[in-house]
Amino acid sequence: MFWDVSDRKRAEQALRRAKEAADAASKAKSDFLANMSHEIRTPMNAVIGMTELLLDTQLSPNQREYLSIVQESGESLLTLINDVLDFSKIEAGKFELDRAPFDVRETLGDTMKSLAVRAARAKLELAFEVGRDVPQMLEGDYARLRQIVVNLVGNAIKFTPEGEVVLTVSCDSCDDVGTLLHFSVTDTGIGIPTDKLESIFEEFQQVDSSTTRTYGGTGLGLAISSRLVDLMGGRIWVESELGEGSTFHFTAKFGMADESLQHARQQTELVADLSVLIVDDNSTNRRILKEMVLNWGMRPVVASNAREALQQLNEAQACGQPIRLLLSDVNMPEADGFQLARWIREDSRLDPLLIIMLTSGGREGDGERRDQLRIAARLMKPLKQSEVFDAIVTTLGVDVMHAATHETEPAHTNAQVRPLKILLAEDNLANQKLAVGVLTRQGHQVTIASNGREAVKAWAADSFDVILMDVQMPDMDGFEATNAIRELEKRSGGHIPIVAMTAHAMSGDRDRCLESGMDEYLSKPIRARQIADKLASIFDGNTLECSAAASQEESQPVESKIDWEQALSGIDGDHELLADVISVFLEALPDTLHSIETSLFELRTKDVERVAHSLKGELLALGASSVATLARELEKAGRENNFATAKQVFVTLQQQVLGLREPLIDFCDKYLPK
Ligand code: ADP
Repeated sequence: MFWDVSDRKRAEQALRRAKEAADAASKAKSDFLANMSHEIRTPMNAVIGMTELLLDTQLSPNQREYLSIVQESGESLLTLINDVLDFSKIEAGKFELDRAPFDVRETLGDTMKSLAVRAARAKLELAFEVGRDVPQMLEGDYARLRQIVVNLVGNAIKFTPEGEVVLTVSCDSCDDVGTLLHFSVTDTGIGIPTDKLESIFEEFQQVDSSTTRTYGGTGLGLAISSRLVDLMGGRIWVESELGEGSTFHFTAKFGMADESLQHARQQTELVADLSVLIVDDNSTNRRILKEMVLNWGMRPVVASNAREALQQLNEAQACGQPIRLLLSDVNMPEADGFQLARWIREDSRLDPLLIIMLTSGGREGDGERRDQLRIAARLMKPLKQSEVFDAIVTTLGVDVMHAATHETEPAHTNAQVRPLKILLAEDNLANQKLAVGVLTRQGHQVTIASNGREAVKAWAADSFDVILMDVQMPDMDGFEATNAIRELEKRSGGHIPIVAMTAHAMSGDRDRCLESGMDEYLSKPIRARQIADKLASIFDGNTLECSAAASQEESQPVESKIDWEQALSGIDGDHELLADVISVFLEALPDTLHSIETSLFELRTKDVERVAHSLKGELLALGASSVATLARELEKAGRENNFATAKQVFVTLQQQVLGLREPLIDFCDKYLPK
């Protein structure tokens, strides 16, 4: 008796072949993703790195601000690239959300800021508002939240020829365990036809195929967003009317952050009861600003144009209740914000008014006009609550121009190892320039080889301390070159440290580099601090050197740390006012230090950067420049996500700041009215 099993065998074979084909396709896909990531990262590396170098040079505040935006946007583009890589993971069901505490208003504020340039270029008003009921600190995946918001707001800007784009956040439900937040992005754009309202959430779907030609884009954004929203336990939908505009809604669940993080950051009593005039031609902005200052207990009056504003100011003056502060938009039809300021400065009765300008992008000559018209601060829209608050407090207490001049000093970097002779193997011209710039600034001498073969030749012809080796190079790549060198070393003896530099973001790269005989690994984009740290770790340098330099300063007598003359010159020699400012500073100091410490503990480097930044400003205003330098270092470490350095700098900074307390208290005792 026998059975014919040919059918079964054939089926098994077909199945095996299908599986092999699927495996091959999946491998091809991840290879494609890895390559694409490489292709994008290489030029991005140059963009971000060059920006970083520029930021370390002498710049005007305007230039510095623009460059910071370039840098931030570059960073967010990189995040985006990673996110696209993750999309394949979502599809494969292998995607997991992060969970970390974050400050809702700050995170969204920074996100909106990164979109401001695009909105300004399109001449659109960009605004955002976070409801009062939304908790300050939540727990969740804020990078993904950011990605969704960037996509929706980015789309809104793209599809809106004129008008405004507004993000609002409110609380749908909230209990001790978690919060369901409701986000909506409203635009006054072209709208979406009813029959497309659902299909646009599918991948590669656009309202019509000519969209890509006119507006660019791939049709992937909403598909990614909608999957992320699913993962966050929410839903996404859109309401729209052709020609009128659209509102994209989504909800997402977040956990409550630890009780201890829900600190009240703003000392609203500093501004309570202060009268303020808000001038903006855009009604959404007026409403948002008014709501904001009302929350702080201020007394707002609003006006929709410069003439109306002048009238309000005069009326208040006539009633004997002059307005103290003006928050004015710059770009208004007819008379703009500067014209308003000019009228005010020409009128001696109104002249004491403090002026803060709100702009959507700087214009030529703004700096000069700002000085002439004594504009105390200029804020870029969309406005973050925290910056409006800080600007008001600073304007009330300190002359901000003074701090601003210090801001423009180039940040000094400390070479952390002895000067080295470095062989750099890199084929990309921009990256060569970048690396040479970074390394020579750190005091090293660099020889360039533009592919692996040249690198091996240069290594054989001269003696170097270390090789920085790009992995992907034409002719002979980094792996092959390393192999060749290690082979030759077997005969000649010795072992030169080789540090791989690769733009590949896929895991497993590191292992591959180390396996092929390289000693260390740097992932691109390369950062000045990262290179310095890596070189220091190889050459037994001390990454602490910057703090060590700082602690030498520590041995100076404390008195010399405060330049009273400088501090007083910032506020027209008014001793009592300075004492006032100092007492506010001292009162907030324990909170400030505590908040840096918790941020460090929770790895929230962005918050470290922010708090260090404002501490730096305060210290400069108090004439404590050398301690301010430490705050600047901390800010930088925060910005670069360099957690280890941040921690070290903080220890020294804390000591030094506390060392300032005594002379500061003495000053207050002397000049504050009893
Ligand atoms: P992309 O923007 O790359 O084309 P998306 O998935 O983000 O891809 O958007 C898909 C399509 O949905 C867009 O091409 C556009 O036709 C439509 N769309 C998205 N947002 C808006 C909006 N705010 N106003 C009008 N149409 C929109």
